[in-house]
Amino acid sequence: MITHEQCCYWDEEDELKHLKDEFVLPEGVVYLDGNSLGARPKKSLAYAQHIIQQQWGEDLINSWNKADWWGLPTRLGDKVGQLIGANAGETIISDSTTLNLFKVLSAAVKIQAEKYPDRKVIVAEKEVFPTDIYIIEGFIDLINQGYRIELINGADDLAEVLASEVAVVVLSHVNYRTGYLYDMTDINRQIHATNALVIWDLCHSVGAVAMDLNQSESDFAIGCTYKYLNGGPGSPALLWVNAKHTEKFWQPLSGWWGHKKPFDMAQHYQPADSIRRYLCGTQPIISMSLIECGLDIFLKTSMQKIRAKSLKLTDLFIALVHQECAEFGFELITPLDHHDRGSHVSYRHAHGYEIIQALIARGVIGDYREPEVLRFGVTPLYLGFEDIWQAVQQLKAIMLHNEWKNESYLVRAAVT
Ligand SMILES: *Cc1c(COP(=O)(O)O)cnc(C)c1O
Repeated sequence: MITHEQCCYWDEEDELKHLKDEFVLPEGVVYLDGNSLGARPKKSLAYAQHIIQQQWGEDLINSWNKADWWGLPTRLGDKVGQLIGANAGETIISDSTTLNLFKVLSAAVKIQAEKYPDRKVIVAEKEVFPTDIYIIEGFIDLINQGYRIELINGADDLAEVLASEVAVVVLSHVNYRTGYLYDMTDINRQIHATNALVIWDLCHSVGAVAMDLNQSESDFAIGCTYKYLNGGPGSPALLWVNAKHTEKFWQPLSGWWGHKKPFDMAQHYQPADSIRRYLCGTQPIISMSLIECGLDIFLKTSMQKIRAKSLKLTDLFIALVHQECAEFGFELITPLDHHDRGSHVSYRHAHGYEIIQALIARGVIGDYREPEVLRFGVTPLYLGFEDIWQAVQQLKAIMLHNEWKNESYLVRAAVT
């Protein structure tokens, strides 16, 4: 039996508890949606003011050099790199995850086409965040060279699909719905055994699980900075390329920011010799700058410590729902095995949408994903054990008192 006192004790013992003070969260809210939009680092407000007032207002165009706006994509890329096992100079921040997938997919397919022209299959997962499939479909249609997409259910299908002429495999490191976590090293080995290349979508894993892109011999990676990394709504995304591929090709959005000598204003494109070739055009400097506030909090600790706390918190969540809410019909769809679990916990329930609305009304913010999935994101930097206790108590109260039956909760908002 887990008690409230026990949860409070775990909070006292928690080595990371002081990091909660680095964030602003509304009073009385348990925020379990940091895997969708991370909380705001306290420093971001003063930093935004500095950028707008000083860098933009006073220093004006000098800031491209003086504040190194020009170097921001790689400078912040190197900070993110420390969380994902990248070496300096391998990561950039730019554009969105969706756009970055288009870039790395183009590069991976081009690299493969030179070596293995008959390989025409791009593999993705059926249950992936759909933007990945949309981009692959759009890319296949655009290049019109006989490529096709093969959708798999998960790791178990990989061996079978790899027997066909696979060029590239696109996988979500942590599944956005179930929280299933792939073993990056093992999967890369399987994919490379057939000479295919891998692109990892890190949206639900960067800042949540420890990983090492180089040691696991990954090929390409992309991911959001506004989720676990707390970069702010729509903050530009990360893009990583294994150094062995960087100079093999560039990408078709060959804009001037990726040019070898952008300020020569040369008539023809020549890619930069570095990861900067994955840049396209002028970046949203204010939004990008703010990512640093979140990253600097991560760099005060380690992904190993964050991961350890994340597993304790998700274990607690699962145990408490089992203890307190067993009779209410929640079906856990997140793996119990630590090896297979990311940093969110999901349940299926026929009234999932209404239950989430009722929880939000009680100050517990989780989210709902079709079909029938209640999703609870666990962010170890600003969540404690007692927060999890409170969240499950509120869930229990909503179920006991049928609060979710309020008709207004049936009305779907534009953004769920
Ligand atoms: C959030 C998310 C995206 C969204 O990318 P944007 O381009 O930022 O809208 C892509 N893939 C996964 C797995 C995600 O979770």
